[in-house]
Amino acid sequence: MYANLFHKLFFLLPLVYHPTKHGIDTSSGSANSGWNFDEHGLDWEGTCMTGRRQSPIRLSIDSSLIMPLPRIFFGNYDERLNRPLTLVNKGYTVDMAIPETRIGQKPFITGGLLKGKYVAEGVHFHWGSPTTRGAEHIINKRRFDIEMHIVHRNAHYNNISEALNYPDGIAVLGIMLKITRTPDRIYPGLRKVFAELPNVIEYHAEGELPGTITLGQLLGDLNTRNFYTYKGSLTTPDCNEAVTWTVFPQPIPIPYSEAAKLWQVLDVNGNPLENNYRAQQRRNNRPVFYRTINLSNYYLRK
Ligand SMILES: [Zn+2]
Repeated sequence: MYANLFHKLFFLLPLVYHPTKHGIDTSSGSANSGWNFDEHGLDWEGTCMTGRRQSPIRLSIDSSLIMPLPRIFFGNYDERLNRPLTLVNKGYTVDMAIPETRIGQKPFITGGLLKGKYVAEGVHFHWGSPTTRGAEHIINKRRFDIEMHIVHRNAHYNNISEALNYPDGIAVLGIMLKITRTPDRIYPGLRKVFAELPNVIEYHAEGELPGTITLGQLLGDLNTRNFYTYKGSLTTPDCNEAVTWTVFPQPIPIPYSEAAKLWQVLDVNGNPLENNYRAQQRRNNRPVFYRTINLSNYYLRK
């Protein structure tokens, strides 16, 4: 009911509406401005930009253009960051801003569909609940348990808020996490992030990860050679259509006990923050590319 009232006021008073300020908050938006995940974004009209390239969407090999695109090049992902990461409860996700590395530049990516360099700005997560899965992109009809987003800004633009105004402003890497009973590998970077979660249960709480890591330690041995890529949007308000998505379909295994820490995180109102993913959006005939170098595998399979 309050949501309805909010929308009526919004339409009556368009002149007093100001877009959310972003600063370096790379996960965008603000849970204070009245939106939540109760309807997975179906009720974000007025707080969310609309258009023909919204995210997330369903991804599948069968509906993709299979192409030998360049692989993603990870610049400075193996360089140690120059200070410890701080995990922050934003009320709608947990988020970390990425500092410079010890050699003075931030980690960056190029390759795939990207033209030029995209500088890493932040990392945040989308998750489900004890009984549901919470990744945003559905891959081959499957929703994974958790989706990690590494948000990058086009180096042509000065900051995230500026980059959000351009169709080539932002590049996000989508990394799937899958709850696995007995994972056979340990991901030291992710482990540190998840170990800090009990310290950021409350809205606005902050926790510093011990020591310093490389951004690459969040990925471990993830297979980054195969990926989906397409032009889309932020998945939280203001839903800016500024994002080139690169989504890796091979998941990182994570023990149940680690994933369960996400379900303890609380939202702005002190309720459990669960299922913080946006509903699937219309594809509108957008091309989705699946990157592989070995096209012959696919011809042989058909
Ligand atoms: Zn996200």
